[in-house]
Amino acid sequence: MTDPAPLTDGYGRVHRDLRISLTDHCNLRCSYCMPAEGVAWLARDTLLTPAELMRIVRVGLALGLEEVRLTGGEPLLRPDIVEIVARIAALQTATGAHPEVSMTTNGIGLARLAEPLADAGLTRVNVSLDTLRPDRFAELTRRDRLPDVLAGIEAARAAGLAPIKVNALLMRGVNDDEAVDLVRWAVAEGHELRFIEHMPLDAGHTWRRESMITGAEILAMLRTAFTVEPVPGRGAAPAERYLVDGGPGTVGVIASVTLPFCGACDRLRLTADGQLRNCLFAREESDLRTPLRAGASDEELGSIFTACLARKLPGHGINEPGFLQPQRPMSAIGG
Ligand code: SAM
Ligand code: SF4
Repeated sequence: MTDPAPLTDGYGRVHRDLRISLTDHCNLRCSYCMPAEGVAWLARDTLLTPAELMRIVRVGLALGLEEVRLTGGEPLLRPDIVEIVARIAALQTATGAHPEVSMTTNGIGLARLAEPLADAGLTRVNVSLDTLRPDRFAELTRRDRLPDVLAGIEAARAAGLAPIKVNALLMRGVNDDEAVDLVRWAVAEGHELRFIEHMPLDAGHTWRRESMITGAEILAMLRTAFTVEPVPGRGAAPAERYLVDGGPGTVGVIASVTLPFCGACDRLRLTADGQLRNCLFAREESDLRTPLRAGASDEELGSIFTACLARKLPGHGINEPGFLQPQRPMSAIGG
């Protein structure tokens, strides 16, 4: 009989969730993520083809993965995104169900793609939006595209992808005065806003602990305008959720740096060039692409998954002396 949970790491964490970066390219240049000139893009011939991607996902599902989140870079820039969603959604987990397929996107292109993506089997979408002010959006992302993002969010709702999670990152002196406005807007629209602490993963290596807006600061800002009470039962979810003014609206705080949730982590990550990572902050990757292209069997690929997990550390170590930021930026690992 096979092990019921082959994707259990050395600390007893069972892994169910695969985050796939479909591309390292992006049509925005959020200052906390990518420099204006972009980054050194991955070489084309290193990118997984859809068939290679399906093979890897299939092996992961057979080992116990149940959820697939597509991200990047900007996943909607992939011309074959609808086909990729449909093909993953049609695969089977170890228990014979279909995997849950979700996406994290900046929302640009969603106005056109939300409906075909929902038809293809996409179940949930997280849209990143850090400001509701057009001039500030243009400054922060270096592109004047706020109307496209808002239209994308509307289209996602119309396509049945609600409730939509909206990810916001506050930068000191840039948009940290918008916490209350963002929550007020999200609650009125029925979206679930989640604030994310800035992590040391930017391509420019400009992250400074002192300039990061902490989860505690965000809650203090929100409490100037609303009552904010914790919702119990977080499970493996990274966001601590709070009822706003008694509900039903909620807000989430993902305090990855100040209150790490590594103990409940159930994620693995696959880069667009076929490298498996056991953590956003991992300093090493496991190459699936080379053995795959050399004709490895499913068993051989599966053993790369389990060996990668066996090396997973108990935590990300950001708060420990000697922490080193990974070589790849967030946009290439997949956020
Ligand atoms: N382009 C898509 C988007 O923006 O949603 C998907 C990729 S993006 C890397 C995924 C998420 O990571 C976004 O919500 C973004 O705000 C967040 N992010 C990017 N850089 C970050 C950093 N250094 N620390 C924390 N979150 C970051
Ligand atoms: Fe692009 Fe997302 Fe990074 Fe912004 S956060 S630059 S949208 S990958």
